[in-house]
Amino acid sequence: MQNLKIILNTNLKKKPDATTKLGFGKKFTDHMFTMIYKEGKGWHNAQIQPYSHIAFDPATTIFHYAQGIFEGLKAYKNEKDEILLFRPEENFKRLNASARRMCIPEIDEKFALQALSKLLEIEKDWIPTAEGTSLYIRPSIIATNVALGVHPSIEYLFFIILSPVGSYYKKGLAPIKLLVEDFYVRAAVGGTGAVKCIGNYGASLKVAENAIQHGCDQVLWLDANEHKYLEEVGSMNIFVVIDDTVITPALTGSILPGITRKSCIELLRASGYRVEERDISIEEVIDAQETGSLTEMFGSGTAAVVSPVGSFQYKYKEYTIGNGCMGQVAQFLYSVLTGMQYGKIEDKFNWSYNVTKKAKQEI
Ligand SMILES: *Cc1c(COP(=O)(O)O)cnc(C)c1O
Repeated sequence: MQNLKIILNTNLKKKPDATTKLGFGKKFTDHMFTMIYKEGKGWHNAQIQPYSHIAFDPATTIFHYAQGIFEGLKAYKNEKDEILLFRPEENFKRLNASARRMCIPEIDEKFALQALSKLLEIEKDWIPTAEGTSLYIRPSIIATNVALGVHPSIEYLFFIILSPVGSYYKKGLAPIKLLVEDFYVRAAVGGTGAVKCIGNYGASLKVAENAIQHGCDQVLWLDANEHKYLEEVGSMNIFVVIDDTVITPALTGSILPGITRKSCIELLRASGYRVEERDISIEEVIDAQETGSLTEMFGSGTAAVVSPVGSFQYKYKEYTIGNGCMGQVAQFLYSVLTGMQYGKIEDKFNWSYNVTKKAKQEI
């Protein structure tokens, strides 16, 4: 393993009370991982250090041109007090895919996962155990060159911070209401919609605000070309169930390839469900709603795992899905995926990554 320096924090914070509402991404642990890149030197100075502010020159590239990327995953604790991750290799693989799109030098995926594991062992007591809670992990890479010229930075900072989180949605697993957006777009094929780059969400905030003003919780994006085909929802991929077939938009270049999406597809197929990855138009969904063959719609993502959609609004008309409650497929996915994440059920797919066990094997 590459050299990893550890500087322990001697001024530990008071851990939040697990019984109070943790919210999402508001509190952070005592340590963070950092590593820097310099042209000619590569990635170096990997260290775990006390969580702290970081100061940058106002002319730093990230502030002006958003040359930066991130990931999002979670750590859980099982009944044996062991630390579990869910398919973390996929997150570091995707981080490198995002890096390639944004001209950021790739990281050593294996080393990043080992460094994260070490960080998690140090912060183990920060992993909440109440139902629906976890330790959210945010790896990021930002361009730290001080220069206003528009070109790839020659210096970068990779950091990983940790945040104990409650349920992503304030209302818990209650079905959400979506506004089908037929003017603004999230991403076009050829753009950056398929990678987790720092600029994507900034451009979506106005549209999300508009959805809330219309009494909806989130935006259901349509394709940029024709404003016709479903793309995804906020920070989640989208699934619909029509005539017992589970359908999700194919990854055609503007949709973020969610790890939860991939897991849902693999799990459903292995359990005998018919799953289609293809274009699905809003008209097809409305037709199916009107004939009663649309039984479910749900989002998938690390933060919420599976989030049922109770209704959607399109061109000022509202459509209720099924009986407006969580459907069978969403319920199945939610219980199996969270069961694996918390180490409560058998993991036939080998998706659960036991940090504690791996650490013991390495000694
Ligand atoms: C991260 C993200 C997702 C979900 O990906 P997961 O790997 O399942 O967490 C979906 N859409 C967007 C836009 C995202 O940023």
